[in-house]
Amino acid sequence: MLVLALVVVLPISGCAESSDSRIFVSDQQEFDAAVDAAKPGDVLVMKDGIWRDFEIVFEGEGLPDAPITLTTETKGGVILSGQSNLRLAGNHLVVSGLVFRDGYTPTSEVVAFRKDKDHLANNSRVTEVVIDNYNNQERRESDFWVMMYGKNNRFDHNHLVGKRNRGVTMAVRLNTEASQENNHRIDHNYFGPRSILGSNGGETLRIGTSHYSLTNSNTTVENNYFDRTNGELEIISIKSAGNIIRANTFFEARGTLTMRHGNGNLIEDNVFFGNGKDHTGGIRVINADHTIRNNYMEGLTGYRFGGAFVVMNGVPNSPINRYHQVHNVTIENNSIVASDHIQLAAGSDQERSAVPEDSIFQRNLIANDPGRDIFTVYDDVSGIDFQENLLNNVASPKVSKGFVSENVQLERSQSGLLLPTSQQQVGFGVSPDLIPTAKEATGVSWYPKEEQGVQFDTGRTIEVEPGKDTLTRAVSAAAAGDVLTLKDGIYSVSRVIDITKPVTIRSASPVNEAPASGIEITYSRTTLFEIKNGGALKLHGLKVSGRDAPDAAGNSVVRTSKYSMLRNYELIVERCEFKELDINHSFSFLTVSLSTFADNIVIKDSSFTDVTGAIMKLDREFEDFGIYNAEYVTISGSSFNNVQGALVDFYRGGTDESTFGPHFSLSASTLNNVGGGRRNKSQASVYLHGVQVTDISDTSFSNSKPIVINHTVGEPQTRVQSNRFIGTELPEVTELNSEFENTAVIRDNEVGGN
Ligand code: CA
Repeated sequence: MLVLALVVVLPISGCAESSDSRIFVSDQQEFDAAVDAAKPGDVLVMKDGIWRDFEIVFEGEGLPDAPITLTTETKGGVILSGQSNLRLAGNHLVVSGLVFRDGYTPTSEVVAFRKDKDHLANNSRVTEVVIDNYNNQERRESDFWVMMYGKNNRFDHNHLVGKRNRGVTMAVRLNTEASQENNHRIDHNYFGPRSILGSNGGETLRIGTSHYSLTNSNTTVENNYFDRTNGELEIISIKSAGNIIRANTFFEARGTLTMRHGNGNLIEDNVFFGNGKDHTGGIRVINADHTIRNNYMEGLTGYRFGGAFVVMNGVPNSPINRYHQVHNVTIENNSIVASDHIQLAAGSDQERSAVPEDSIFQRNLIANDPGRDIFTVYDDVSGIDFQENLLNNVASPKVSKGFVSENVQLERSQSGLLLPTSQQQVGFGVSPDLIPTAKEATGVSWYPKEEQGVQFDTGRTIEVEPGKDTLTRAVSAAAAGDVLTLKDGIYSVSRVIDITKPVTIRSASPVNEAPASGIEITYSRTTLFEIKNGGALKLHGLKVSGRDAPDAAGNSVVRTSKYSMLRNYELIVERCEFKELDINHSFSFLTVSLSTFADNIVIKDSSFTDVTGAIMKLDREFEDFGIYNAEYVTISGSSFNNVQGALVDFYRGGTDESTFGPHFSLSASTLNNVGGGRRNKSQASVYLHGVQVTDISDTSFSNSKPIVINHTVGEPQTRVQSNRFIGTELPEVTELNSEFENTAVIRDNEVGGN
């Protein structure tokens, strides 16, 4: 009878529990008490509101069909701000609905699948959690947003956007046996935009580390959306074995899915849309026993290690942290469409001399503009067996055996992919059934997947009258994207104008008439503008004089915040005149601070006259950590006269190869008497150290110091052509770390003349 009674009672109490088991908690003490008392099937509900400085430890033992759940009154209604984080430990736990923003983790992780190294979470799930710009204010301080430990955990339908400080966005750790062969599933997450970090440590997802890379992780990463995850060279860095990376979409994402370490990974059904954006890449293959099939790559511009498809050379008997040889890899039915580079035996050098072996490359479709061969072959590729691949009409391909070269007509399918129209060609490249994972199918429905980045000229237009500090007040009152138009007259500025949002300051004259002769800005502080975190500045058609600046060394026109800036800024200068930057010594146009980073600096159709410092000092990251101050610097149609410092001091030290930049371009400009000041340490007019892409063309250098370029790592691309050097020594290019002859292209330059 007792047994029977139990049988009867249990379901009823179970039933009662499931309706009563929602336990509302409204502060941290109530939460901790509820966690301590939690039983399988309990649902802990955090009351909506802002929970500040809450380090959640969610520890418990649920059951497979009765997990312990932590959720929120309404989805997105609980904001974890300040110094908060989440640690899970135990079994069968579920967390959902939290939003982390307006703060950063005090530890090294925001979400950790462990309480400490002895208490891991297993069989647990984190779903519908948002982490939005939850960054340490110090750009160089490293932390991680999500760290998976334990086994059989799932991380799905989460929304991670705006990681801006150093450190991988998400990682799977294999550091103890309890976290190996883990069978984790990472699916349907929205990995939103991650800005360019300007150093190593900006990966979006890493699985393993080199130390445990020969161990099986057995993690599945599927149906995720990687939206402009541009931190660095590696979007996903696989450093373990036995993983499946399937059906993820990579949208305009710089870098590649990299099989950096570890063997036996399956890479299938992934879709890459580069849309022609710089440095968008596809898949990079290193190590053994991988299968790479049915992946679609379109519009990818990346080159070298960042190409649309890259097979690397290895190091013979490689140490675990270098490059293992490509061996027994199957590459089949991939489509590489309208992309720029496929690189085979890439990285071949004295150390990386082990060529790919026992591998097969079959039924792939390579379709580009007719006649363009996108293969680069760096070494012997006879270890790759090419069979039945289709190539769109290349006259003399570098790899010819195993390719049919014929006309390929492509048409965009309903699922958004370019597929061959001819029935005979259907077996090449991806299956017509491949459907890319859509952005809307990832993350959460209740949190917007907003655009990020600087948006100039999107706000109101506001007229500004001449006078004392009228400009200061107007900038202070402006909203992001506003355009301030200046009438003729003198604008005197008695305090530093803080730029805390994107703002445009321009002459009221039509675009092509500027600079208006009637506008002049003078200022009496050590700088006119200071770009602070979140700021960006566009100047058009202005005249600026430094004549009222203080009689002290080191003035500037624009400078960045003295403190670390998480948000990358832009500085655009068009049709402006700067003069009399010669009050005392070392008066520069732009000076920057440590831990600040420009996505873009543009100087166009402008003039600079009588400057005692440099035009741009981008050399504050001097510790040789591979960090630098600006991604793109572009100067065109401008003149520089009597500048004692350099036009640019641009420094990217160290030998790390994780970044695409910096980039420097100078064209159709004139330099006259630039770089000769005794305080100019480099004694160069243009000093580029470690810049990855340099283009200097159609520019006249007279009575100036030479261009000095130091190549450090990464086979930099340097072109100096069609310039004229009058009373100026020819450019010097030095290889600091490579045994190869330098690769700079210096040609068609004129020497002498008028
Ligand atoms: Ca890296």
